[in-house]
Amino acid sequence: MSAILAGFMRIAILGAGFGGLELSTMLSEALGDSVEVTLIDKSDSFVFGYSKLDVMFGRTTPEAVRLSYRDITKPGVRFLQQTVTSIDPEARRVSTDGGVHEADVLVVALGADYDRDATPGLAEAGNEFYSVAGAERLAEILPTFSRGRAIVGVCGTPFKCPPAPSEAALLLHDQLSARGVRADCEISFVIPFGSPVPPSPDTSRALVAAFAERGIEFVPNRRVSSLDGGRRVAVLDDGSEMPYDLFLGVPKHRAPDVVIASGMIDDVYIPVNPRTLQTRFPGVYAVGDVAEVGVPKAGVFAEGAARMVAASLIASAKNGEQPGAYDGRGSCYIEFGAGRVGRVDVDFFSGPEPTGTFQEPSGALVAEKQHFGSSRRASWFGR
Ligand SMILES: Cc1cc2nc3c(=O)[nH]c(=O)nc-3n(C[C@H](O)[C@H](O)[C@H](O)COP(=O)(O)OP(=O)(O)OC[C@H]3O[C@@H](n4cnc5c(N)ncnc54)[C@H](O)[C@@H]3O)c2cc1C
Repeated sequence: MSAILAGFMRIAILGAGFGGLELSTMLSEALGDSVEVTLIDKSDSFVFGYSKLDVMFGRTTPEAVRLSYRDITKPGVRFLQQTVTSIDPEARRVSTDGGVHEADVLVVALGADYDRDATPGLAEAGNEFYSVAGAERLAEILPTFSRGRAIVGVCGTPFKCPPAPSEAALLLHDQLSARGVRADCEISFVIPFGSPVPPSPDTSRALVAAFAERGIEFVPNRRVSSLDGGRRVAVLDDGSEMPYDLFLGVPKHRAPDVVIASGMIDDVYIPVNPRTLQTRFPGVYAVGDVAEVGVPKAGVFAEGAARMVAASLIASAKNGEQPGAYDGRGSCYIEFGAGRVGRVDVDFFSGPEPTGTFQEPSGALVAEKQHFGSSRRASWFGR
């Protein structure tokens, strides 16, 4: 690597999500225009994952939560709105609908895509709340749901932000209560884990207690495998059936097609050294949801991995000491409804098993979560 980096370094970052935005920001702050960072994303804007819940429950609009990439003005960083169409990791060459880009260092941060078709019936007879479009659609449907059973159901693992479907069930309870129709509705929550947040028993206990207090049926260790729209039933992975009137799904996830076609994947996502985020291709890293790291698919972990890669590249550029290993730590805020937010701090690599520390829901954590968003908005977009 040091031979590559002895001269002017060209770094191509594919994907301007949590990982790509943090990495480009850190590189710019430390190295300015002494390096050439090309940040590529097919979209014109970024949306925080949790904003999809806000859109779905009508707390805000998609326009209000979109952060435009036009606002990225950082020394050394060039943003290109282009779609990556092929990646050659051996040559560190990337083709897009706008041209060909060659790099000394390539960082793949393309996230995870949704595979709606993997769950028969989901597209025709259900809804998902994991995309902005899905959340926007639900913002129109939810106010019309006043009677019957709603299922919040997970269709595959791993999925982004493991607490998010628990949050959706609790916020749905709030919305139905506020509309005065809760007594006419049932809410069931189906998840293929034994508990809502497996690394943190305290968090899981608090969530299960919150479900019980609100009369939300919790169905652990089950995955939704298909929907039968004609009979309005969800079929679970053990063959059992649950009738529903409204289905709110977490779709199955997979790596983006262009990553699958690149030959970087062994199994489902890109294998990396979990301590350095390096792939088996020299000068090629993968961070965030697209990588197989052994941590959950969540923005805070994508960001932590990006910080690790940034520290390593900055050290190489400055001929400094390489940083220690990626620590696999992250904190997630969890909406408990009724205007309260909890927090779980998870540590995946320090001990033999992942551990999680829970902070009880409070108003103070609502403010902390807001600060989490506004601080990223400021450092990534200057807003
Ligand atoms: C409902 C919900 C709630 C969530 N809540 C939280 C939370 O509270 N805290 C938290 O930490 N995480 C949360 N997450 C998870 C978080 O959003 C993701 O884990 C995080 O965005 C992953 O970051 P990333 O950089 O790996 O990928 P992403 O942020 O998904 O970015 C990938 C980027 O790659 C681009 N891209 C993909 N394919 C191409 C291509 N071919 N060409 C060009 N560009 C391409 C995409 O447009 C995208 O901008 C939530 C997610 C959801 C759905």
